[in-house]
Amino acid sequence: MNRGAVAEINLSAIAHNLQSVRKIVKNRPVIAVVKADAYGHGAMEVSKKLFKENISFIAVAFTGEAIELREAGIKAPIIVLFDTGEIKDFFDFKLIPVIYNVDTALSFSAEAKKRNTIIKVHVKIDTGMGRMGLNGNYIARDLIKISEMDGIELTGLLSHFSEADLSDRSYAVLQLNRFNKIRETISGKLKRKFFSHIANSAAVLTFEDAHLDAVRPGLMLYGYSPINQKSEVSPPTHPSPSRGEGEGGGEDSEPRTTSPELINLIPAMKIKTKILCIRSFPSGSPISYGRTFITKRPSRIGVLPLGYADGYSRFFSNNAEVLVKGKRVPVVGRICMDLTMIDITDVKDVRGNDEVIILGKQGKESITAQELAYKANTISYEILTSLGNKSKRIYVETH
Ligand SMILES: *Cc1c(COP(=O)(O)O)cnc(C)c1O
Repeated sequence: MNRGAVAEINLSAIAHNLQSVRKIVKNRPVIAVVKADAYGHGAMEVSKKLFKENISFIAVAFTGEAIELREAGIKAPIIVLFDTGEIKDFFDFKLIPVIYNVDTALSFSAEAKKRNTIIKVHVKIDTGMGRMGLNGNYIARDLIKISEMDGIELTGLLSHFSEADLSDRSYAVLQLNRFNKIRETISGKLKRKFFSHIANSAAVLTFEDAHLDAVRPGLMLYGYSPINQKSEVSPPTHPSPSRGEGEGGGEDSEPRTTSPELINLIPAMKIKTKILCIRSFPSGSPISYGRTFITKRPSRIGVLPLGYADGYSRFFSNNAEVLVKGKRVPVVGRICMDLTMIDITDVKDVRGNDEVIILGKQGKESITAQELAYKANTISYEILTSLGNKSKRIYVETH
């Protein structure tokens, strides 16, 4: 047996989610974000699928990720969101840089002149995210300067939201207004038309004014909504994620486990493993490190071959459920580096090697990334990347 879990990635779900995005944004171009190995789903396979679905653009974080996609035969335009380190790579592999200062633009211009070519670039504006992008009082001046450089074709303008996922949208509105003001200031002053994009998944779902010329979703494509993640709320002592569809909710309300059906998204990742062995214990037996769980009855305990080294957080100690034969059963005791114990006393006929679902559906039950995120006091993005990027991935296409 190999360590860890298997991540079964349903590529049809990703194609379906792309169609859902397209419907919501009225067929605007979609820039599919596949950074961090497509949020744990595997950037190469996901990009191949998106390419077949005529994706307009693919976006990655770093140049190395883009080169891997090019080498795998992905011919879609690729935007590199964060890294302009190796300028020659952008020319050699036909990549679109996101530029966020004038000096970098000058270097691209020089390389383009040397090669006697023209490179398309997008420029990022920091409208309040405080991460990357042109900021200060001279944004419009800098943009015009960049657009006039030889060898540079400024084709895109972008920005990024800090909190488009909240029900209070005032900061997102402020960011969009700043972005629009700059677009107005420079429109007519640039040599050619450019297109603007700012909408992540949250804005795709809830902020139509921000859809602009193209949208840039990540999470949605993998089947989850980012709304009401409530990462800042600590899990309660007896967590039981609400299944309500309540609007918004205050700071201290429980996050809802957004019904994926409602917004027509299908989670694409299933994390599964097999029972390594089954142990029988009398009542009063301690389980795992620190004796944090003591059996209260004669118990059957299943041992799973995955632990925190496989991306199954230690926060799930005595604090998560998995699916066995379509039933929810609790994780008991502390998560170990390579092993996790579950209480299968209430499920009949469980044998060694039986399948266990860590994330995803089995029968009528399902464990969502949002449920796990809530229990680990994080966001579904981190659940997907932690489990997806540490599991052996297999691909299926089921509708
Ligand atoms: C990650 C990222 C996105 C996608 O965000 P989601 O919330 O996953 O939709 C879009 N744009 C930039 C710049 C990003 O870093």
